[in-house]
Amino acid sequence: MTTLFIADLHLDPARPDVAQAFFRFMENQAPQAEALYILGDFFEAWIGDDLQHPFVDDVKQSLRALTDKGIPVYLMHGNRDFLIGDQFCNETGCQLIEDPTLLELYGRKVLLMHGDTLCTNDVDYLAFRGMVRNPDWQKDFLSKSLQERLAIAESIRAASKEKTSELQYEIMDVTQSEVEKVMTEQNVQLLIHGHTHRPAVHKLEVNGKAAERVVLGDWHAVGWKLSIDESGYKLADFAL
Ligand code: MN
Repeated sequence: MTTLFIADLHLDPARPDVAQAFFRFMENQAPQAEALYILGDFFEAWIGDDLQHPFVDDVKQSLRALTDKGIPVYLMHGNRDFLIGDQFCNETGCQLIEDPTLLELYGRKVLLMHGDTLCTNDVDYLAFRGMVRNPDWQKDFLSKSLQERLAIAESIRAASKEKTSELQYEIMDVTQSEVEKVMTEQNVQLLIHGHTHRPAVHKLEVNGKAAERVVLGDWHAVGWKLSIDESGYKLADFAL
């Protein structure tokens, strides 16, 4: 059996092709798997589980069809959809997992992350993250009307876009020393994450042993998936 990992679909009504690719993936590939892990930024934006939208209904239905088959779907928050909550999970059968999550898979330890916390050079973002991941901030935000929440999300996105264009390339990738620190602390030789939209397999050394960092790609030009089974892992792209 295989365990599947995907991340950074950034599902958005503006990209029906990505959603269709996801539905096909859920119908054709995911049912063969033992479990599916979605490592963050599944949605382009998420302002609360109470938002009703036909697009969101279709995505929920697709998740529900898989979990109804008895295949677990584990969902990690990304920096864009960190407000996915209990209601969404109840409706879809998905289970939220912490960032990071340490997993034992086919006899090997695997660390799962979204990846944003590895980008420690982006000090402004990490400060912002600290604010919006605070339960009090979230409670206050979710108590606002949908219209107010949409306006706030839009202004945050505009500010982030303006800033991102000024940032140097290096700032947006992970910090190598942070990767090594986290993997050493967790004592793992395999880390899987997304977020940077730089799909690759990086070799490094952790605690004196060979280690790997597998980065999932986004679903923008093509889709990306990682399959793991007893024999190893495979990172692959496919047409949308
Ligand atoms: Mn992200």
